[in-house]
Amino acid sequence: MDSKKDIRALNKDQLRDFFVTNKDKAFRGNQVYEWLWKKGAHSFDEMTNLSKETRSMLQANFVINHIEVDDMQQSLDGTIKNAVKLHDGLVVESVLIPSKTRTTACVSCQVGCSLNCTFCATARLKKMRNLNPDEIYDQVVATDRQSRLYQNHKLSNIVFMGMGEPLLNYNNVLKAIDMITSDEGLAMSPSRITLSTVGLPKMIKKLADDEVKFNLAVSLHSAIDEVRSKMMPINESSNLSELLESLQYWYLKTKKKITFEYVVWKGINDKKKDIDALVSYCKKIPSKVNLIEYNAIEEDGFQQADASAIDYYVRTLEKNNITVNVRRSRGKDIDAACGQLANKQI
Ligand code: SF4
Repeated sequence: MDSKKDIRALNKDQLRDFFVTNKDKAFRGNQVYEWLWKKGAHSFDEMTNLSKETRSMLQANFVINHIEVDDMQQSLDGTIKNAVKLHDGLVVESVLIPSKTRTTACVSCQVGCSLNCTFCATARLKKMRNLNPDEIYDQVVATDRQSRLYQNHKLSNIVFMGMGEPLLNYNNVLKAIDMITSDEGLAMSPSRITLSTVGLPKMIKKLADDEVKFNLAVSLHSAIDEVRSKMMPINESSNLSELLESLQYWYLKTKKKITFEYVVWKGINDKKKDIDALVSYCKKIPSKVNLIEYNAIEEDGFQQADASAIDYYVRTLEKNNITVNVRRSRGKDIDAACGQLANKQI
């Protein structure tokens, strides 16, 4: 592996300093920064407004690590799943989900995951490392290209709902979002970005204190501690009341509603007591609920609840004036649906 430093680990000021230290003009740093982020250059040779000597000097000092889409699978419903190879050979997955009105990228932020949610395919891969900001950013660039190519319009939304827990890679995820929303990067609106988390109270409060402008979704799946802890071990150390307190803090600071992601499983959370607990939880925080269709992973023992249970959830939530959307899963035939990302093709 190349031991030279990845040039995208430097911010603009550091790049400007590099040129000054090397007896060149500081504005060269701005030019290189633009090539790296806005123009997405993957080699110094592409930087045609720099002299050959400058390019060679950069080449001698740095590398440009970048992702490669190693394998692309397209679903019958138009969903695209990418196996994304990182510079060190590790692989994560990203998904492009088209609908009538938008195209959404679902991106990964860690290789594997340490949180062991029992229903999740990614949990079967042990966590190997965090993704760098540029590796997250590149997934968005790659899916944007696919959106333009296959859907004839640019990417409209991003969800951090791929492999890994974004709040356990806090700094890198926020740096990536800064570049995605910056005019020096992709200039996407933060209101089109949703970070989805298992719900880590301390980190949710930190997000609020950092005054982020994007949306927050929480994988809830049950509003009863006993039930939730069985599916999501994190609930044992960060229970529902701590989570609620952090979400109330978030709302106080940001005035942004929370989205609760919720799968209804047969025999696990499909009873009246589960629905009543969810209603009561939602009433304590401005929120809406996405009921997500479940995609069974082989032999995991979880089964999608009957349609009648999901109908009952919908009717009860609506009767209590809580917004609810039923999200059909996309890309099931290529294992690209929620909870199915597990590098299966490699
Ligand atoms: S659901 Fe999310 S947090 Fe839980 S194991 Fe899977 S990737 Fe990790």
